Amino acid sequence: MSAQTQILKEIKAAQTIIIHRHQRPDPDAIGSQMGLAELIRLSFPKKKVYVVGKDSRSLSWMGTNDELPNELYHQALVIVTDTANSSRVDDRRYNDGQRLIKIDHHPNDEPYGDYNWIDTTVSSTSELIYQFYQMFKAELILSDQAASYLYAGIVGDTGRFLYATNAETMLAIAGLLTFDFDWYAINQAMETITPEAARASGYVLEHMVMTDMGFNYIILTEALLEQFQLGDFGTAFIVPLLGKVNTAKAWAVFEQEGEHYRVRLRSRSTVINEIAKRHGGGGHPFAAGALAHGQDEINEIIHEANTILKGQN
Ligand code: AMP
Repeated sequence: MSAQTQILKEIKAAQTIIIHRHQRPDPDAIGSQMGLAELIRLSFPKKKVYVVGKDSRSLSWMGTNDELPNELYHQALVIVTDTANSSRVDDRRYNDGQRLIKIDHHPNDEPYGDYNWIDTTVSSTSELIYQFYQMFKAELILSDQAASYLYAGIVGDTGRFLYATNAETMLAIAGLLTFDFDWYAINQAMETITPEAARASGYVLEHMVMTDMGFNYIILTEALLEQFQLGDFGTAFIVPLLGKVNTAKAWAVFEQEGEHYRVRLRSRSTVINEIAKRHGGGGHPFAAGALAHGQDEINEIIHEANTILKGQN
């Protein structure tokens, strides 16, 4: 039995379904979570379907989560979308249900749960949920609202079709656009930034450091983050800015969080997730994240990136 068939079977058998996603959600985490929830709700109206995780202020236009009592988990099927490692699942009760399913497009470094449906060849977990709908179309109903979530997730994870995009992705988008939702408003919500974020972009472009090997990075201390009032808006919009520079072969944002620095690593064609894994993180070959415990570890990461890039020259 394929993973998808098994997942549909589990969904049909469950009365209560709780859907989780990763911490610090991006549009694909929320899109796949909310999209799947809507798909199940409409297809099986008698089931109780919930979504959990800390609400993201900057992505509040994508919907909000439910507050659930612990008892609801006792009989529940839990599905986690878009989350490679169990440590990154938002809401630690994810393992308290009757059954646990993981649906993801990241490398399956940690296959937690009773069933895993993993496909690293797709753009996003939202595209996987669309595939799931396509596969069982005779039994499932996708609403306009669900289509809008999946659209936002795919647009988010492909950087508006700049990467991780293939013919299947475009066919999914074509299918989703046959539904009635305001895709223009979604594009605007995803592409525009606040005036503070615009000023922060100016700072980043002025102060980025480009190494001889083509590693372009910026270190954002808490003082800077406060100065630019990025707050909940986060630094997601800064990451692609560094990659816009055509001499950058790989790039990173180091974002201070107390004692640590969150590391957001990207590259054009050099595999960098091995660096992330060595520093307590992971992710895709060309888009990964890690945690640096101070300036020394930041220097190590910069050194490792330079070494890898040098090997490719
Ligand atoms: P981000 O820079 O946070 O957008 O993350 C880029 C990619 O790296 C995402 O696909 C994440 O799944 C992955 N990633 C980021 N941080 C971590 C981490 N600490 N551990 C594992 N994977 C991570």
